[in-house]
Amino acid sequence: MRAPKSNICVLCGVRPATTRDHLPPKGWFKGLGAQLITVPACAECNEGASSDDVDLRFYISAQIGKQTDGSAALWDNGAHKTILKKAALRKSFLASARDVVVTDADGVDITRLAFVVPVRLYQKEFERIVRGLYFHHTTRILPQSAPVIVTLLTAADFENQDVRELHKHHIGGDACIYRFGVAEDQIDSSVWVFEFYSSHFVMVATGAASENEGV
Ligand SMILES: [Zn+2]
Repeated sequence: MRAPKSNICVLCGVRPATTRDHLPPKGWFKGLGAQLITVPACAECNEGASSDDVDLRFYISAQIGKQTDGSAALWDNGAHKTILKKAALRKSFLASARDVVVTDADGVDITRLAFVVPVRLYQKEFERIVRGLYFHHTTRILPQSAPVIVTLLTAADFENQDVRELHKHHIGGDACIYRFGVAEDQIDSSVWVFEFYSSHFVMVATGAASENEGV
């Protein structure tokens, strides 16, 4: 599919598009270059998000762990360095991090690291990703007046048949799979479900579809 063009930034819908923004952010995927989607964006929307991109990559990686080669590379090549380098991120992560004891299937107590996920950061980043992907797939800029609501899902929510029936797109094998559907009679209304390394799930609803969702 050829990347659609726009003279206006498809993320803010206001400023002239002078760059192309990679969505989901390029730094979340190692060595995928040409497979990533780019959309027309202004410099403010594109560069302004780069610090948020690396912060959220850390939180996603910390929740996924290192059980596959791809997710281990995500941590080793990016997220781990981020937490060492960014003092503010480290401070807010450690402020909420604590050990919790959970009992596994065999009745053995194991210690896990628990932390509070930054809900506002998810909201901001995934709103940008969905506004960009919405344009990429529909060639239409989602109006700023259309609400965009981001929700974290569990694997169980993800088994839902309605989710499974949405159009499916892969970026870099299992690194990111996203599914979406746009309502035919209300084009601002759409649902998006992202799956990272088969173990981290995020849902985004826009327009009227967002009315029943929320974090
Ligand atoms: Zn913009």
